[in-house]
Amino acid sequence: MIERLRNTAREIQALFEQIDSDVKGFQHRTGITCTAGCGHCCNNPGIEAAPEEFFLLALSLWENGTSMEFLRMLEKDEGGGVCVFYSHKQSNPDAGYCTRYEHRALICRLFGFSTMHDKTGSLHLAACAAIRNQVRPDSLETSGGSTLSPGMEIYSGQYEDIFGGAFQKKYPINTAMKMAVEKMGYLFDNTPAV
Ligand code: SF4
Repeated sequence: MIERLRNTAREIQALFEQIDSDVKGFQHRTGITCTAGCGHCCNNPGIEAAPEEFFLLALSLWENGTSMEFLRMLEKDEGGGVCVFYSHKQSNPDAGYCTRYEHRALICRLFGFSTMHDKTGSLHLAACAAIRNQVRPDSLETSGGSTLSPGMEIYSGQYEDIFGGAFQKKYPINTAMKMAVEKMGYLFDNTPAV
């Protein structure tokens, strides 16, 4: 079982590397970037994620023996606060950074630099106002009509495929992490170590 979990982690890691590389390519081609030091999008108690998005975090915590400590720390923050991984300046809650960048969720990798279709079928960037203000008419599509930016729906579908189907529900980000770590604990408890 543990080998199966590690295989899933390798698949996720490969997809995350692809996404990160596509996002970098998009930033390079268009010049669209985050404002240096800005953490405005993490400083939002409304962020939701599926527990599966924290598979890498959960596996890492159980493998390095810090899962219980992490769950105790989460108990204080559960219930819809700002992400526990977000560290910000006392003087400015919007100026900060992710303290678990390598294990951040799918939404954290895609928000800001991926495209979505709205109800009318038009393409737009899933991003904050500061980033959307940098978008030019040619930023998202080539003249041939192909999309320059990573497609959120495409990558979300590929991520869900790793788990065998669409995710049922999203939760406030700290709750999603807690559920992911608890579920991983159940899988660890029910499998002999290899
Ligand atoms: S995991 Fe990191 S990038 Fe994602 S919301 Fe939390 S602090 Fe921000």
